[in-house]
Amino acid sequence: MQIILATRNAHKVEEMQQLLPDLELLPLPGDAPDPEETGATFLENARIKALSAAQHTGLPALADDSGICIDALGGAPGVSSARWVSEENWIPTVLARLEGKVDAERSARYVCVLSLITPNGTVLAESEGTFEGRIAGEPRGTNGFGYDPIFLVPPSYTQTVGELSAEEKHARSHRGIAARALKQALHENLY
Ligand code: IMP
Repeated sequence: MQIILATRNAHKVEEMQQLLPDLELLPLPGDAPDPEETGATFLENARIKALSAAQHTGLPALADDSGICIDALGGAPGVSSARWVSEENWIPTVLARLEGKVDAERSARYVCVLSLITPNGTVLAESEGTFEGRIAGEPRGTNGFGYDPIFLVPPSYTQTVGELSAEEKHARSHRGIAARALKQALHENLY
């Protein structure tokens, strides 16, 4: 089955291709609309993006909506992780807002919701993954993307995701967990 990967985020494309090598994932065409992510939840936004891409292309589409939820910020930036401040300020803003907070006050989690929808709106499979961690005092590591250089991995909290290999990240990450659950759900729904 050919599936449109409903994202223009090159990092998500790379990770999803590594995580779902058995699926024939096609890029989102350049002329596809960029729907407004007006949902209040990751699931609503994943469905908005998947349905828009599926209707535009006439093929089933898979969307990833994800973000980082920081407890000391009341769960922010959450669904707005890509948009709350400009990209170069993502990490500086988090670090500034957590200034002076001790380890126990720096808990956070990554969330990823995946939705695979046909052009007529039928949900073929959906899944969710979460990755618990803690915000570091300063960025470390150049792997991954986004907030990875400040996301410390339990139980030791000595390494950031930015210091993990792609394989190590996928084994633990919100996107890795969601991708494995999606494969399982798809298998159960199709066979
Ligand atoms: P979306 O495109 O609205 O789903 O926003 C996702 C945003 O959440 C990304 O642009 C990153 O800022 C953040 N994010 C999601 N997953 C990850 C990850 O695996 N590492 C680092 N940042 C992530």
